[in-house]
This record gives sequence, C-alpha cells and structure tokens, in this order.
Amino acid sequence: MTSVLLTGCGSLVTNNASHGDGSRLGLVADGALVIDGDRVGWLGSRRDAPPADAVVDLGGRAVVPGFVDAHSHLVFAGDRAEEFAARMAGEPYTAGGIASTVTATRAASDEELAATVTRLVAEMTRQGTTTVEVKSGYGLTVIDEARSLAIAGRVTPETTYLGAHVVPAEYADDVAGYVDLVTGPMLDACAPYARWVDVFCEQGAFDADAARTVLSAGMRAGLQARIHANQLGHGPGVQLACELGAAAADHCTYLHDADVDALAQSGVVATLLPGVEFSTRSPYPDAQRLLAAGVTVALATDCNPGSCYTSSMPLCIALAVREMGMSPAQALWAATAGGAAALRRDDVGHLGVGARADLVVLDAPSYLHLAYRPGVPLAHAVWRAGHQIA
Ligand SMILES: [Zn+2]
Repeated sequence: MTSVLLTGCGSLVTNNASHGDGSRLGLVADGALVIDGDRVGWLGSRRDAPPADAVVDLGGRAVVPGFVDAHSHLVFAGDRAEEFAARMAGEPYTAGGIASTVTATRAASDEELAATVTRLVAEMTRQGTTTVEVKSGYGLTVIDEARSLAIAGRVTPETTYLGAHVVPAEYADDVAGYVDLVTGPMLDACAPYARWVDVFCEQGAFDADAARTVLSAGMRAGLQARIHANQLGHGPGVQLACELGAAAADHCTYLHDADVDALAQSGVVATLLPGVEFSTRSPYPDAQRLLAAGVTVALATDCNPGSCYTSSMPLCIALAVREMGMSPAQALWAATAGGAAALRRDDVGHLGVGARADLVVLDAPSYLHLAYRPGVPLAHAVWRAGHQIA
C-alpha cells in the first residue's frame, strides 16, 4: 500500500472537533495529512508528520473534505435554457416544465444519457465534489426509469428512484393509476438499481397520501426514503419525512415552526438547495432558523436542467452564506459532513483517520475563500479514495 504525505496545508478542515482548534470544523493550522491507500492514515500538525512513500508540499494551500452533493438529477436529455430566459423575464417556475425534459429523455439513447451524466460528474469533480447522489425521474416509464438508474449506477452507488417526480401526461387523468405503476411494476424494475426512493411532494406533483404510498412501497422493497418537500409553498412533505424516518427532506423553503420542530426531533436532515432559489428567483429559506433549532443541515446543488443547472458546490456555499444566513463554517460543514449525513454515510464528509481520502486542495489559504471569492475556480487538486482525480 502506497502512502502519500500532503504537507504544508495552510489550514486543514477535518470536521472533527477532536482535531485542531476544537471547533465543529476541527481546523488544523499548518497541517499535514497522510493518505494510506484509499484512506486517511494520519493527520495533524506539519511538524509531527510521519514519513511516507511520497511527499506533496501544498505551499500553504487550504485542504477541505471533498464535497458531498446529496441531491442531483443528472440523467436527462436536452436543456431548458429558453425556459430559464423566460423565467428571468418574469414568468414563474412551476413543476410543469419537467414534462419537456421527460419527452427528450425518453427519445435519447442510453449512450446519449450516459454521456451527459459522465460530463456533469466530471464538471462536479473539477469543482471538488467527490460523492454525488443521482436521481432518476425524467423517464417515468418502467423501462426509462430502470435504464436511468442503471446509467446513474455507473458513476455512484447513491442512486435514487424518483419515478414519482411528476405525473406524466399519459396519466394526467389517472393519478391513482400512475401511483400503482410507480409502486408496482416500475418499482420492481428499479429497486435492483437504487439505494433510495424519493417523491416530489408538492402542489402540481404528488399529495401527502400519494407520497406516503410511494415512499412506503419503496421502503418495503428495501430502499431508504428521501423526499422533495416544501419547495414551492407550505405543505405536508416535511412532516411525512419525519413520520416515515426519511434520511432527508430536501428544499425546506417554506416551513412552519412545527415543521422545524419535527425536523429537530426526528433527526431528518434538511437539505437546502440555494441554487434553486437563485435560478428560479425565489425567496431563500432561513438556514439560521433551522440551525438554531438543532436541525442537521446539508447543502446540495439539485443540478437539473429545469430549476437549477449548476453543478457547483462552491457556488451553493457562497449563496448559503450570502443569502441564507449561514456562516462560512456552517456552510462548509453542510456541504461536506451535512451531505454525508443526508446520505447516511460515515466514511465521507470528514477527514478523520480511517475516513475515505476524499479531499480538495484549494487555491487559497483558507476555506473562507469559498464564500469570499464566489464564481472563482478554487479547486487546485481533488483527491478521491486516495487518488488524485482532478
Ligand atoms: Zn430535486
């Protein structure tokens, strides 16, 4: 097993309060880290660093855990740039635009879909993302949902069955029939390729009863639940997530106090997606309200062709700080350890000894620059499972 010593880290974020300054980020000044195979073998102060097979001097650059993007929709064809332009000219965002992506996705070959997924994952990697969740949800037939998940599974084990994204046009007059399909033959075809089940619980998509039926069926088939909830208005999604013990409730833009309390009590992670509010020109959720209540908060991109076509976790960190009231430290934690919590992973999202060696070397002396320098490509090098991948 080869070991690599990364030394000269101007600052090293571990997300482990037992290291460094004892804060939640576990910030080590003038640090070093040893990668043993695919894991972190040692970390601490540069002057205490043990010998290794190879040494890389980072020249004072900051090191942070690789970003964990726990919410994306990468399996699709076409784009919706015209819809974005219309929205910026004043038209509101509705769930209906998804239908045009469904039409394009059904018409695309496996190779075309896989090429888009590969391109977007590469784009994410270059910006420091080392773990990504990918959903289906633009096929909405048995065969198109199953092939979407098979393609997603080539790039990540974190695959999510989202047959209940919207009701497709051919079932517009028979929502119950579509729910039967999603919880029956479509689930049977998709479950072997999925770790998670998800549903878009929103006005214009699926109501509380339908969402409960979809998630419960998925859980009976061995999948774990996550949910799109409370994005476009107040609704039952967050309460449903807490009732069912979902890993995460995503969006959480419109919350009553009872929703915040339920998230805090249940331990369901609130995944905030500030790129969506940015790209739909919508009000941002108040992250500080969730954090003050003790809710675990994650940040993710929601990368998709309709409501948010960014693949950049650094942009989401900058937006969370500027627009949602998070401190830079809270936002970085949410984009790394928070994302890992939303995926129920303990091997990623932090840099303790034994963690997977997933990290980003920043072209900056401190993680603060992620929010301080929005739009700037700060990922100098990216390591995943002990290999430099960007
Ligand atoms: Zn989404």
